[in-house]
Amino acid sequence: MKIGILAVQGDFEAHAKVLAKLGVEAVLVRAPGDLDGVEGVILPGGESSTQLHFLKEEGLKDALEKFAARGGAFFGTCAGAILLAREVRNPAQESLGFADLVVARNAYGRQLASHVTSAPSKLRTEPLEMVFIRAPIIEQQGSGVETLAEAEGHPVLVRQGRVLVATFHPELTGDTTVHEYFLRLVSNGAGQDEGRKTKDEGIKTR
Ligand code: GLN
Repeated sequence: MKIGILAVQGDFEAHAKVLAKLGVEAVLVRAPGDLDGVEGVILPGGESSTQLHFLKEEGLKDALEKFAARGGAFFGTCAGAILLAREVRNPAQESLGFADLVVARNAYGRQLASHVTSAPSKLRTEPLEMVFIRAPIIEQQGSGVETLAEAEGHPVLVRQGRVLVATFHPELTGDTTVHEYFLRLVSNGAGQDEGRKTKDEGIKTR
């Protein structure tokens, strides 16, 4: 299995370390050709507006759209979650729209609010440690989106088909649980036929 990590900006190295720890081949994605042979793509935390700029400049936005259209799996953390959302608010921003989510960027106030907490999830019995750094908030999610974990009254880990979205940074704890879950999504093709909704279908307000 080969996993691509978008490496135009942000904490892609942290994801690369987790994949190395799990013995999975990873490729840093900086150009469309880097997606050759890749089965899943990780979109790291960082600054989503900067990442978006490079995605367009490098032709990666189109390449990722093609990858999504042929059923490729995605895992976005924080800024990556913002990029994957159907709609981005506060401030509004263009996005890839691979997950039926409405996300607020500066939800906790500008540039502040970083904290660590732990909360239960559907991934295992023990709680997950969650590092939030200027995290977005998922304000709405479509009916095809499954909530895998909530913290402080908001969904923080959700899945729609083969698209996994975390508003926190699983790559910054020593715990590989969330990455292992993503690798299972990639390898067993779970949810390939479910949850891929068109842009305006099925949104529910939380
Ligand atoms: N709020 C940031 C953004 O808009 C995301 C922060 C992060 O990835 N740690 O990209």
